[in-house]
Amino acid sequence: MPVRMCMVCRKRREKNELIRAVTKDNEVIADKSGKLQCRGFYLCPECLGEIQKKRVFERVLKHSVSPEVYKRFTDEVKGIEQQS
Ligand SMILES: [Zn+2]
Repeated sequence: MPVRMCMVCRKRREKNELIRAVTKDNEVIADKSGKLQCRGFYLCPECLGEIQKKRVFERVLKHSVSPEVYKRFTDEVKGIEQQS
């Protein structure tokens, strides 16, 4: 299994343990399938609560990001976890 680095804590973990996010239309969305052909990055589930404080999306998108974008992303990821 390939290893990827979390954008928040910079720990390296196996790809299937991480949440994949992609940038699309100047927003960040959760990549549920792991197959979207967009520029992506990874987060560990433990770091999900830290992404807004650490301004992860601002760093990736290079512009300001509203709290709603973070909330939508977090809700989406939690939805994925409920399904599995
Ligand atoms: Zn992490």
